[in-house]
Amino acid sequence: MTGDTYVNNMKRKAIFLDRDGTVSREIGYMTDIKRLQLLPRSAEAVGAINRSGFLAILATNQSGVARGLFPARSVHLAHARLRSLLARKGAFLDSVYFCPHHPREGRPPFRMHCQCRKPHPGMLLRAAREHRLDLKECYMVGDSVKDMEMARRAGATPVMVLTGYGRGERERLAESRNSRPAQIAGDLMEAITWILSRHGNPER
Ligand SMILES: [Mg+2]
Ligand SMILES: [Zn+2]
Repeated sequence: MTGDTYVNNMKRKAIFLDRDGTVSREIGYMTDIKRLQLLPRSAEAVGAINRSGFLAILATNQSGVARGLFPARSVHLAHARLRSLLARKGAFLDSVYFCPHHPREGRPPFRMHCQCRKPHPGMLLRAAREHRLDLKECYMVGDSVKDMEMARRAGATPVMVLTGYGRGERERLAESRNSRPAQIAGDLMEAITWILSRHGNPER
């Protein structure tokens, strides 16, 4: 086997990012995409991922689609806006996954018991297949207990941020061992700095 083949067969790693309350401001259901705003230092944090050996992959629940509050198309538009806000600061997402479903609200096809709605691990499992990721080497950064639980179920390392719902959610952490974060960080930049420092890749 040549060295090149070996490299090509190596599994990759990613830092998964929740969207609302982690990368962008938590504003409830996004019925108007113009309200989508980055949190301070988010673009810098995503840029730091881009310069590391990790992929930056968004994973977000968007049950507003199932609830009939907005069409799936506006989720794609919101993500286009998010990408362009990041691009202004030289940062990018390698991939985006969202779950439009809800088990009880709305109508089929979006009303369903899916495996992609957090805390189910479906989005991470699918990303692992599509990007050949070793989930044990991956991290999930989010502001909610559901994000932490999804990470644990997928075998990734959960990191909690105190932006968005983070401060309130922190009190719920004690209730569930399955959702205990490996680290709690003030914001996304702090979370990414911690992750990269564990891999000998401190952000300068
Ligand atoms: Mg969130
Ligand atoms: Zn789903």
